[in-house]
Order: sequence, then C-alpha cells, then structure tokens
Amino acid sequence: MQRFILYLILFCVGYILFKRIAKSLMGPPSSDEKDSAADADLIRDPQCGTYFLKQRGVKGVVDGKVIHFCSEECYEKYLKRRAGK
Ligand SMILES: [Zn+2]
Repeated sequence: MQRFILYLILFCVGYILFKRIAKSLMGPPSSDEKDSAADADLIRDPQCGTYFLKQRGVKGVVDGKVIHFCSEECYEKYLKRRAGK
C-alpha cells in the first residue's frame, strides 16, 4: 500500500513537470490561454457536420454553453431543432 502511494506521488510530480515543460514549449502563456489555443482549431458544426475553422464560424450560446456553427443558418436550424424536441 505504501508503495502504491509512493508511485501515485511520483506520477503526480511527473505529470506536473510534464505539463510545465509542455507549456514552456508552446510559448508564453496568455491571459485567455484556452481561447487563443483553440482559435485555430478545426471544429465540427453540430448541425450540418461540416468542419470549419473556429474563428470563421458563428458563436452561439445554447443552454449556457458556447457552441460554434459554420453559419448563422446552422445556428438557427440547431435552435429550431432543439425547440422542436
Ligand atoms: Zn453548418
């Protein structure tokens, strides 16, 4: 049991170190790290299934969650589909 805890601690330390190294490799951290890192992401429109660049899409808020759509039309369709359920 003691050995297990030791491994657990080693794993945690290793994980933190790994995260730190990965962060330093990816460049200086910005205030809104999450957003800037995800901006160049290719994401999928939940309405039509098209893949598109996040910054080119339309941002919609559904049930408090931010969802990205390829176009305003898909956003509206998605909202209508949800309302119809
Ligand atoms: Zn779409």
